[in-house]
Amino acid sequence: MDRLQKTEIEDFKAHFQGEVLLPDDAAYDEVRQIWNAMVDRRPGLIARCVSPEDVVQAVRLARKHNLLVSIRGGGHNIAGNAVCDDGLMIDLSLMKKVQVDGNARRASVEPGCTLADFDAVAQAHGLATPLGINSTTGVAGLTLGGGFGWLSRKHGMTVDNLLSADIVTADGNPVHASETENDDLFWGLRGGGGNFGIVTSFEFQLHPVGPDVLSGLIVFPFDQAKSVLTQFARFTETMLDDLAVWMVTRKAPPLPFLPEDVHGKEIVVLALCYAGDPVEGEKLIEPLRGFGTMLGEHIGVQPYTAWQQAFDPLLARGARNYWKSHNFSQLSAGAVDAIIEYAARLPSPQCEIFIGTIGGQTARVAPEAMAYSARDANYVMNVHARWESAAEDERCIAWAREFFAKSQPFASGGAYINFLTQDETDRIAFAYGATYDRLVELKKKYDPTNLFRMNQNIKPV
Ligand SMILES: Cc1cc2nc3c(=O)[nH]c(=O)nc-3n(C[C@H](O)[C@H](O)[C@H](O)COP(=O)(O)OP(=O)(O)OC[C@H]3O[C@@H](n4cnc5c(N)ncnc54)[C@H](O)[C@@H]3O)c2cc1C
Repeated sequence: MDRLQKTEIEDFKAHFQGEVLLPDDAAYDEVRQIWNAMVDRRPGLIARCVSPEDVVQAVRLARKHNLLVSIRGGGHNIAGNAVCDDGLMIDLSLMKKVQVDGNARRASVEPGCTLADFDAVAQAHGLATPLGINSTTGVAGLTLGGGFGWLSRKHGMTVDNLLSADIVTADGNPVHASETENDDLFWGLRGGGGNFGIVTSFEFQLHPVGPDVLSGLIVFPFDQAKSVLTQFARFTETMLDDLAVWMVTRKAPPLPFLPEDVHGKEIVVLALCYAGDPVEGEKLIEPLRGFGTMLGEHIGVQPYTAWQQAFDPLLARGARNYWKSHNFSQLSAGAVDAIIEYAARLPSPQCEIFIGTIGGQTARVAPEAMAYSARDANYVMNVHARWESAAEDERCIAWAREFFAKSQPFASGGAYINFLTQDETDRIAFAYGATYDRLVELKKKYDPTNLFRMNQNIKPV
């Protein structure tokens, strides 16, 4: 790191409780790796924080020497913003404390927690808040971009359940943000990504959930995709908030409940979770089985924490990934046709198109209430290209881009910032949508020099 003298690094280490890694250190290569193997960057210095004071020290170092800063929570961001070349990577993944007040139904969560870390402690009290569907994702990045998962139709976006946050802003000072303290900053944190500082603690509202929930998969053959998807679009428009049904179309993994001759062939999967009484849920999901001739199903009452981990094996770290995403208020016939056309030519066995169904409680919040404004997004589509070798990059990326363009006329506008890739800087204002201008004003106030710019960046101009 050219900008720092050896003595300055030594001085930083002397005031830092966590670990400081330089490129020659044994752990350096392991720690700089993130979920998306397409991103291979080499920070000049990695500061592995273990306390809010460490975060303060790291921000002050970056500020003093004008270092490029990247912030790592769970390391899942598809654009790879957790890691930078040459600059300072502030790694929060060692800060993993979760404290739950069962009576108040509140949790305080440190920024290195994965969804699994948080769910495990909250579920010990029979509680949870809406998070994503892959348990190795970081709570921090997911929350700051909006956050949605199986519980969102019932309890809203993750940010709708954020009560307060402790944050170190670009001036290197810790502040508290809530509806009653630094309320403008709190407004921006709920959807504005990592633009305003480094959150050292999140406080969430919790809700009674499970601990067992009715959940699982129903699988149909691809030649019935048109009928299944059309019925899925209609069914999901009116389903109760307790129920979430998502759609994935991909090549069948070797799941034991599917006939062997289907493995590796295109399928349509309905994935569901009912966040209420399982007996009621069974009645509500029965019509889904009649959407076509099922190839198999794997539905049952299981711990919520197990369902939260169900997709982990398909989404493990280390593969190459490229995503494109649209929001939809409705799934029109045109959107269904586009999905089927591109799912028929998946360029690798791990590629998929999925539709996450939100709406319900997520749609009952005013668009201007906080930075996350896409309250008309009832469906979030992600074309998830995923493959193993660099030789396949061009083919897989081209497929995702073509499908994205083909489905664009049916989208409703806006995009989920947590699904934007690194080549989508031209979509950032569009993705933030109605609240973008106010976010720019906030950025000017809290980070006028754009210290925090390795993110879906809101420029202070
Ligand atoms: C397999 C997979 C499944 C996913 N499923 C869902 C899903 O179901 N629902 C959903 O909503 N999203 C989902 N996502 C998207 C996810 O929300 C984003 O990738 C998110 O950025 C991950 O956060 P992270 O902390 O793991 O990432 P990181 O890469 O560590 O962080 C991402 C960015 O967030 C900011 N950031 C992180 N921590 C802090 C902090 N403490 N303070 C300030 N800024 C910070 C930084 O700008 C950082 O670059 C999924 C992602 C993956 C890879």
